[in-house]
Amino acid sequence: MGEDGCAWCGERRDETGFGLRVWSGRVTDAYFARRAFARGCAVVVWRGRHVVEPIDLSPVEADLYHREVLTVGRAIRDCFRPARLDFVTAGDDEPHLHTHVTARYAGDPPDGRLIPPLLEEQVWRADAAALRTLLN
Ligand SMILES: [Zn+2]
Repeated sequence: MGEDGCAWCGERRDETGFGLRVWSGRVTDAYFARRAFARGCAVVVWRGRHVVEPIDLSPVEADLYHREVLTVGRAIRDCFRPARLDFVTAGDDEPHLHTHVTARYAGDPPDGRLIPPLLEEQVWRADAAALRTLLN
């Protein structure tokens, strides 16, 4: 266990419950997933201090992190020749910054994601306006 009881902060081994380490970058470790719907799935794990969201990285850290995620993506593409790649940074399974890089192939079955419901129009327009104000 690492900081705040985070399992991933303390887990810097060559093999974990998730997969085999295939690369150690400057700021990430990449693990090749044992469980996968298709060949070519890895998770790139931030290995600096405990961070949950990419927005908590400094600009320099963010640049390094995303460059290393792209490096892993290129290697998966070169190795497995998928039709395309998915890059998903989600905190659903463990709240420690990581990005899933998943090869997708022509004819893949739908990935099971549900189509989200339409938001109520007034809420949708108000939320967009609030976000637009923050971004501009
Ligand atoms: Zn952590």
